Amino acid sequence: MGRPTGFLEIERQDRGYDKPETRRRSWKEFVKPLPDAENRKQAARCMDCGIPFCHEGCPVNNLIPDWNNLVYRDQWRAALKMLHSTNNFPEFTGRVCPAPCEAACTLNIDENPVTINAQSSTGGGRKGGSSPSYRCGEAASGSGSLARAPLGLPVHSSWHAPGIP
Ligand code: SF4
Repeated sequence: MGRPTGFLEIERQDRGYDKPETRRRSWKEFVKPLPDAENRKQAARCMDCGIPFCHEGCPVNNLIPDWNNLVYRDQWRAALKMLHSTNNFPEFTGRVCPAPCEAACTLNIDENPVTINAQSSTGGGRKGGSSPSYRCGEAASGSGSLARAPLGLPVHSSWHAPGIP
C-alpha cells in the first residue's frame, strides 16, 4: 500500500469524457485521461485490503492492489509488467470493461471506489508504452500481445497485402 491514510485524505477523481454531442461529430479520442500526478494520487487511495474484493470482481483477476502500489510509486513499467501477467490487453480492457472491480471495491461502500479502470487503461495504453512497436520489440514478433499468450496457440507474425493469403 502506497499511503495508509490515502483513502481518508484523497477524494475520488475519475477520467473525464467528451459529451455525446461532441463525440458524434468526430472519431477523435473522447476519454480525457487524468494527469500522471493525479493517477498516482488516486492509486494511493487503495487500502491493500486483506481480502481484496476487487480481485473477485475482475474477470481476469488482475493484481489490483499490487499495481496500484506501483503506480503510486511512479513505477509504471513494473505496473505494466504486472498487468500483463494476468491480462494481455490492458490497453483496451481498460476502455471497454464495465469495471466490476470498482463495483466490488471495498471503498464502494459509500460509492467512492478506487479508480481502478483509469489506472489500468493509463498503465496499459499510454504511459506503459504498450504500443505495437514496444510489444514487437519485447516479443520479437509482429503479432503483438498474442505472442505472449500462454495458450500454446500458433502465432502468425507475417503481414499480407489485402487479398493475398
Ligand atoms: S478492494 Fe479497493 S481498496 Fe481494497 S485492495 Fe481492491 S482496489 Fe484497493
